[in-house]
Amino acid sequence: MKPVIVLDTSAFIAGYEASSDGENYTTPSVMGELEESGLPHLRLEAAIETGRIKIMEPEERYINQVRMIAAELGEIGKLSEADMDVLSLGLQFKDLGRKPLIISDDYSLQNIADRIGLDYRGMTTQGIKHRIRWEIYCPGCREVFQNLRPNALCPICGTKLKRRPAEKESIRR
Ligand SMILES: [Zn+2]
Repeated sequence: MKPVIVLDTSAFIAGYEASSDGENYTTPSVMGELEESGLPHLRLEAAIETGRIKIMEPEERYINQVRMIAAELGEIGKLSEADMDVLSLGLQFKDLGRKPLIISDDYSLQNIADRIGLDYRGMTTQGIKHRIRWEIYCPGCREVFQNLRPNALCPICGTKLKRRPAEKESIRR
């Protein structure tokens, strides 16, 4: 059975990309935590419009269960409303006989997911990463070079060349 993926705020901030063949859910409170004009929010909106991510509010009884478990573990002060909702929605899917997978880099959230018996993963093990492309540039004259190595001397002004990240590109494996 394919897992139902439930996404936390940190997943969107880290640049989670939902594929169209999976079932991806998040909650209204997670969307509320993302800055409205920010890229993660805009990308989530686009994913909702195309049906790749669905927004769903967990039922109150699951929120209550999660709250009790969080209190037991001494984690209650460390969780936002959105964190609680993500866990509650996960628990709700589990109760329906589904196989939820929580995506979050939040340690407290993962800790509770573990106690509830929900599968969880951080973004780093999700198979989606950012690969950085480096470029070589001259800190003196600001020229960018494609074919020289860092520590070589700038052919224009003689300053030692450095490297910097040119862009981050998402890769999916
Ligand atoms: Zn130079």
